[in-house]
Amino acid sequence: MADEAAPAASVLPPSPVPVPRVLVAVPVPGLDPLTYAIGEDGRVPVRGARVVVPLGSRVLTGVVLGAADGSGVDAPSLKRIRTELDDHAFVPPDVIELAAWTAEYYLAGIGETIVAALPPMARGGRADAHKTRRVASITVAGREALAAESAVTGKQRETLARLEGSPDGVPTAELASEGFAADTVARLVRRGFVSVRSERQDRDPGARPAPGPGLAPTWHRDGERSLTDEQTDALRRLERLAADGQFRVALLHGVTGSGKTEVYQRLATLVRAGGRGVLLLVPEIALTPAVTAIFRQAFGDRVAIQHSGLSDGERHDQWMRIRRGDIDVVVGTRSAVFSPLANLGLVIVDEEHDASYKQEESPRYNGRDVAIVRAQRAGALVVLGSATPSLETYQHAVSGKYDRIVLTRRVLDRPLARVSVVDMREEYAASGPDTILSRALAEAIGQRLEKNEQALVLLNRRGFATAVFCRQCAGTIECPNCSVSLVVHGEGHARRARCHYCNYTARVPAACPLCAGPYLEQAGFGTERVEAEVKSAAPGARVARLDRDSTRRKGALDALLARFRAGEIDVLVGTQMIAKGHDFPRVTLVGVISADVGLGIADFRAGERTFQLLTQVAGRAGRGDQPGQAILQTLYPDHYSIQLACHQDYVAFFEHELRFRRAMRYPPLVAIVNVVVRARTFAAAMDDAADLAQRIRASNADCHVLGPAPAPLGRLRGEYRAQVLIKSANRKRMREALKHAIAARPEIGRRTIVDVDPMSVL
Ligand code: ADP
Ligand code: ZN
Repeated sequence: MADEAAPAASVLPPSPVPVPRVLVAVPVPGLDPLTYAIGEDGRVPVRGARVVVPLGSRVLTGVVLGAADGSGVDAPSLKRIRTELDDHAFVPPDVIELAAWTAEYYLAGIGETIVAALPPMARGGRADAHKTRRVASITVAGREALAAESAVTGKQRETLARLEGSPDGVPTAELASEGFAADTVARLVRRGFVSVRSERQDRDPGARPAPGPGLAPTWHRDGERSLTDEQTDALRRLERLAADGQFRVALLHGVTGSGKTEVYQRLATLVRAGGRGVLLLVPEIALTPAVTAIFRQAFGDRVAIQHSGLSDGERHDQWMRIRRGDIDVVVGTRSAVFSPLANLGLVIVDEEHDASYKQEESPRYNGRDVAIVRAQRAGALVVLGSATPSLETYQHAVSGKYDRIVLTRRVLDRPLARVSVVDMREEYAASGPDTILSRALAEAIGQRLEKNEQALVLLNRRGFATAVFCRQCAGTIECPNCSVSLVVHGEGHARRARCHYCNYTARVPAACPLCAGPYLEQAGFGTERVEAEVKSAAPGARVARLDRDSTRRKGALDALLARFRAGEIDVLVGTQMIAKGHDFPRVTLVGVISADVGLGIADFRAGERTFQLLTQVAGRAGRGDQPGQAILQTLYPDHYSIQLACHQDYVAFFEHELRFRRAMRYPPLVAIVNVVVRARTFAAAMDDAADLAQRIRASNADCHVLGPAPAPLGRLRGEYRAQVLIKSANRKRMREALKHAIAARPEIGRRTIVDVDPMSVL
């Protein structure tokens, strides 16, 4: 038994020197911050600094979040930080806090969320083995050694001096070619003065120049152009809100072609003049060149671009310029919401309703909503712009939580497109069941060609044929990995069947794989087929197709849009990619094939998505001097989404849709979280989902738990998927209940997708 009289310290060996610990966010999905002991040099890295840390057999670059609890106690198993890369906050504190909020709200790991906030090259540790190069950088210790005259000498000193001038590091191959010996670098690495990381080698600064002539916006600021009365009023109201210097959200509800961009740009100029930064988010990479060009005319090179279409090197350089404070305006897609822009005064989210703001992989954040939180913390004004606001946003505008500012008319009194609906049942009766282009649409396309105007034709479905089925056994050819049928791409020899989810590709068989029957037929059609139909209906017309298949190659999308803008294409066939935000003044006709494709999807947003898509695409017509026309072909001419899109009546749509959401208890009336559990067998997926559902129900968290049920996409990439949908008016309690359920079953948690505020529930 212990001798109570003896003071412990006198019998035990002296306790080890306390080593401070820090919390580090490492780029591994779902992981909480990890605790590391500080490096051997004894320096405590600052919050926001990057550090190189060991994790299992890997070495990763993480970001320091701050001191860990219980520092001063040494645990022998605690790993040490290998190297500090920064002696300052590489990631600014407000961005770290924003990432922490995002991770918490969307139930994602902090590390994977901070990664989203970093420029790709600063992430380190994630490089592909084959296409990498090694980059050496000076560490904090190295910089100090250099400053302390005698710590390093000779070759080592020269090498450090070379690296000191390049804060982003120098490829080791470049050092070698400059005559710096590899073993000197190795010695410096051993001394902790230099760190070497692997980096993806695709830096290509010249690859993406400013938009070419074809992409330039159609108007050039002359400073003299006067705003319309509505634009003037909108700008005045927004200006007043911005002048308050306080957090506020305003919805700029302006019909297509009402000149929202002009309002954004003038408001940004005012905010900038007041000394504050501006962040402008757009939903698609394809929309950045036009907007950037407009903003460059006002702000010169103090505009930075941030999106994943840039090369890593370009993106990194732009990021560093923002971080250094050389930038006033950042234009980018959703991840730009984490840009290290200081003193934010205005955040603009253009086309705020767009589903592309939602990241469909972890962290599953909505860039619009993170933008609002960021503005709230910065005391900034948020402007949400749209012709077809999301139900969530409009609901807040109706309730008075957001200001609502309207632009009811197009600029220069241009009329909105005249929209008509073609009932395809009548077309089938008149011209046969294989009809793709209605008589009205074919004729209208012909007229545009005669007048040298342009047309857009939308079908929101890729491929040539959407299914191959057997006339003998009625089976369809399915993907071996996913519960969907394969889509036929190409014709003749080039014909292939492909899965749109996992990319599985196979030859189209000559006989049915199920019953060996020889009568295989193609059914359904996609954009490739429409392209072929337009070509044969309008011989001589220059027809091109814009969808994910035709724009896979880097630069292909910009090139296609530039050719269309330059008038080298008469008819552009495409998916929803052609519907968004573009301003093509010579387009006077928009045709929509199968306006109802989106309505068949088992998703509560199907009606909203369809209404938005149709209104937006109709809004591409008649934006120049000539009035526009839109023709919607459908088998459901009476559906409210189609009818109200035809009348371009947003408010009526909102009211109708809200009634449906209220009756079915869907957002914006409740919050929902979609939980999908993946497993090797159907039974396991269902059992594990049932386990989570049961735990959440038992927590009495005031949630409505639906399921488990097979997910609409029941099998994906070889895994079975079961779904639990949670609805609640109390987000916080819902989140806590879910967190506890998952924490109780970590093994299930690793196979679980949690989607907070989902854009779709497939
Ligand atoms: P929205 O984003 O609201 O659909 P845009 O901002 O693209 O509309 O503007 C539509 C077109 O109107 C653009 O070509 C733009 O240059 C032009 N425009 C905007 N404001 C004016 C104005 N005050 N006078 C003349 N043309 C304008
Ligand atoms: Zn598949």
